[in-house]
Amino acid sequence: MSKLLTIIVPCYNEEESLPFFHQRILQVAVQLKVKYQLEMECLFIDDGSTDTTLTLLRRFAQESPQMKYVSFSRNFGKEAAIYADLEHSKGDYVAMLDADLQDPPELLEEMYRLILSGEYDCVATRRVTRKGEPPIRSFFARLFYRLMNKISQVDMVDGARDYRLMTRQMVDSILSLKEYSRFSKGIFGWVGYRTKWLEYENVERVAGETKWSFWKLFRYSIDGIVAFSTFPLDLAAIFGVLFCIAAFIYLIVLFVRTLAFGNPVSGYPSLMCVILFLGGIQLLTIGILGKYLAKTYLETKRRPIYIAKETATEQNENDGQADHS
Ligand code: UDP
Ligand code: MG
Repeated sequence: MSKLLTIIVPCYNEEESLPFFHQRILQVAVQLKVKYQLEMECLFIDDGSTDTTLTLLRRFAQESPQMKYVSFSRNFGKEAAIYADLEHSKGDYVAMLDADLQDPPELLEEMYRLILSGEYDCVATRRVTRKGEPPIRSFFARLFYRLMNKISQVDMVDGARDYRLMTRQMVDSILSLKEYSRFSKGIFGWVGYRTKWLEYENVERVAGETKWSFWKLFRYSIDGIVAFSTFPLDLAAIFGVLFCIAAFIYLIVLFVRTLAFGNPVSGYPSLMCVILFLGGIQLLTIGILGKYLAKTYLETKRRPIYIAKETATEQNENDGQADHS
């Protein structure tokens, strides 16, 4: 029996790039079928788009039963889209691609060949250049990966994209992590498995604009740290010990100075500095505690990760018509 590959594609306001994507992926599907007898299905997630993305997806699904979609009731974010995608995927292999063609579909052939060799459970990609990206963004991205690898147990590769091909087994492992605040880059590392990294040059978006503002990325990186490291929680204890040592040393200095030079009362500015500095550190560590508490709070609510409003994932006998459920 021939194997099935599920291509999963999160889409948020991608009306401009989807037609290009659709065309390219169909070409690749033909090649894979001819070369490896590999069947392909495409599972799009409409992540609450406000443009005509859903209309396009409905049309794709009507044209060919290979094209499927799930449409969210609102924008739940890329992580939720990835989760929904993995949950609905049926393939023996699953590949994850962005809709903007920044992940060249032509690489799939090589990725599949590597997986077939049986040596790897996952073939992932990383870009070696960040060409076309604002320098400040690259700087913070690099900083984030360096920091993350220091303070968390999971391995995170700088420049890693979400573009990867995985075996069913690995997908099931990823799905077994039910957490609400999802950080895929960390989850991929956490589940383990043997991963082969392919490198390629950064490709710019085929059309449209990036959906990630600097602040959205910043918040996302904080989520990543909170999800995969408890080091920030130790900061309060570390600061506490440091300041105890500093206070002790200062006490000795004061004692010796008073004995040697008497006790001239001074030190208003230095007192202010110390109070403000320590106050700042205390607020910071309370803030960190709050962040972890808030995440725990959200997790305990056990809210669904996404809400689907419309799905067309089953192959209908007639014509792949959407079942408006
Ligand atoms: N995306 C999504 N939901 C969001 C934001 C983005 O599903 O809230 C999708 C988007 O449609 C694209 C992919 O995630 O297919 C990557 O987004 P984008 O290209 O904007 O990010 P970048 O490549 O700049 O990191
Ligand atoms: Mg992109």
